Amino acid sequence: MKKIAFLVMTVVLITACCQENKNQEMKEKANISKSTIKSTVEALITQYGGDIKADAERGVKHTASLWRSTDGTENEFKSYCVTHFIANNKEKSQTFEKISRNIEILRGHFNKISLDLQRPLHEPMGEIFDIDKDFGGYSADAHMIEDMYRNKIAFTIALNFPYYSLKEKEKLGKSWTRQQWAFARLGDMFTARIPASILQNVSEVASASEMYIANYNIHMGHLTDQSGNHFFPEDMVLLAHWNLRDEIKSHYSKGVEGVELQEKVYEVMKRIIDQTIPEKVINNPSYDWDPVTNIVYQDGKAIEASPEGNERYQQIINNFKAMRAMDEYSPLNTAVMRAFEGGMEITQDDAEKLFRKFMSSGELKKVAELIQTRLGRELKPWDIWYDGFKARSNINEENLNAITQKRYPNAKALDADLANMLVKLGFTNEKAQFLADHIDVDPARGSGHAWGAGMKGENAHLRTRIPSTGMDYKGYNIAVHEFGHNVEQTISLYDVDYYLLNGVPNTAFTEALAFIFQKRDLELLGIDNKNPQKEALDILDNFWNTYEIMGVSLLDQRMWLWLYDHPDADAEQLKVAVQSLAVEIWNEYYAPVFGVKDEPILAIYSHMINSPIYLSNYAFGHLIQFQVEQFLMQADFAKEVERLFRIGCLTPNAWMQEGLGEDISIKAMIKEAGSAVKVVSN
Ligand SMILES: [Zn+2]
Repeated sequence: MKKIAFLVMTVVLITACCQENKNQEMKEKANISKSTIKSTVEALITQYGGDIKADAERGVKHTASLWRSTDGTENEFKSYCVTHFIANNKEKSQTFEKISRNIEILRGHFNKISLDLQRPLHEPMGEIFDIDKDFGGYSADAHMIEDMYRNKIAFTIALNFPYYSLKEKEKLGKSWTRQQWAFARLGDMFTARIPASILQNVSEVASASEMYIANYNIHMGHLTDQSGNHFFPEDMVLLAHWNLRDEIKSHYSKGVEGVELQEKVYEVMKRIIDQTIPEKVINNPSYDWDPVTNIVYQDGKAIEASPEGNERYQQIINNFKAMRAMDEYSPLNTAVMRAFEGGMEITQDDAEKLFRKFMSSGELKKVAELIQTRLGRELKPWDIWYDGFKARSNINEENLNAITQKRYPNAKALDADLANMLVKLGFTNEKAQFLADHIDVDPARGSGHAWGAGMKGENAHLRTRIPSTGMDYKGYNIAVHEFGHNVEQTISLYDVDYYLLNGVPNTAFTEALAFIFQKRDLELLGIDNKNPQKEALDILDNFWNTYEIMGVSLLDQRMWLWLYDHPDADAEQLKVAVQSLAVEIWNEYYAPVFGVKDEPILAIYSHMINSPIYLSNYAFGHLIQFQVEQFLMQADFAKEVERLFRIGCLTPNAWMQEGLGEDISIKAMIKEAGSAVKVVSN
């Protein structure tokens, strides 16, 4: 009897709970009817005339997509729009200036809060206590967007500076003024209002995947074969896939024995991909394992061991499901669109076309032949990571250390030299002084980084590690790279005409400038080191890396498209699909170059699990960076740097057109690789 009562109560509770969830869901969905949208637009036309029709339609529709019942009734929505719509251009510009000023205040100060709170973690300020970490992890702006909805600033922005899709930006942007671009960037602030519970779930699933990957270690010292041999150092523990890949890379200089070890690592990778890897040997030093026969040994005796069982693919499915829940709230209604059109601002279709073209280029075979000659053997699938194009420097690092240690005994000395360095790179005295005055050099605990300011009046920070013996050459080389970032950050904060356009389209653009600075580090020390062989090797290294990353990026794309075509697939089905997609890409773009078919190697990337739909960013990064570098190497350097970084954050395609007068393209890289093959072969 009691049991029944309990059962009844549970049922009631569950039903009540469902009801509550439903109510919550209803509250978090857009619920302004089409007829209210229509009558709101009509009311605006009556008030301001037909000229505002297009703007009113876009603004009202977009605002309606963000409005929730908790923000007010349909009538309240309508009257909010009617009272807050700005028809007068002058008033709209003035409003924009005010919003922009306030966003700079908010972002700038939040940035400064983080910078200052994290100082004890980044700079040598004595022992780090737990309390330092707690404050360092605090984010003051965590609720800013939520607050902007509550005080309705978000709706004023959405109504008057609405969102434009990537396609619209690229099409309309051709005739936009700078101010219209800035309006559109303001519109990007409030594009979708996704319920906190869904975002929370996405982040929980993501951190579970992060943990899964972070603990995926292989105890290499316990790899064995049928005769009980061991091959790797006893204490070697490698994280999949990065450390496994680096282990393969480290054996290129070791002849036949090196190839055998590389093959062992690849056997492990294949077991991870097809999930036949015994669960017992993951992150566990208690067993020996022969990856070829897949037998597990304990105290020299073969024992039963069950395979991991598709957890790798389950993680991907978990991410997919969590991210798909955002679809109905976003104008970009798939995770793929959000990653490409929203994040990279390049469509998946464009990305795929460009990658496929690159991977079909005839130069790949020429570079492959060169690698084959240098290795003295046929290519193996893992040679996608061939790293023999790394040029050894022909200058003595000891001598360089002596120079940099003397010149930069401490952070202050580097700080005092910044203007001078910029003048050497061709900046005018005045500009050099201005930039140097806005960049502070701080001593760093780690290897260093560049932290830009978020508002005018604040300085960028160049963090660099300087031992008590003075700065060594390696540290100097990194500091010059970070200095390039600081210069970009400072030019784009002070010289871009609209605060909302400050920055660059994505990190590939800033890395390009940082690498150009880094490349000139010896020139800055007054050392002339033109080395055509080294330049050619760098180009080939970059070319081969691009080839590798494009293949895995394409697999990542196709896997996500497959998931959207098969939303109910289970981990087993996904596993089969990923393996067959990987082999399909291999056979089309790698088998003709490598001479081996049916290899699954492209499916080993851990990014596919812990950084969903991110790999293509790296591939694009390579291309864009190469183009910008090539351009700057031949340009009037300082003048062009100033011009390029004044453009600000247009879309990548619009930026390339404005800056370089060309689209993002694979041509330059392919052409330069062709010439580099000749230089290196001679
Ligand atoms: Zn960098």
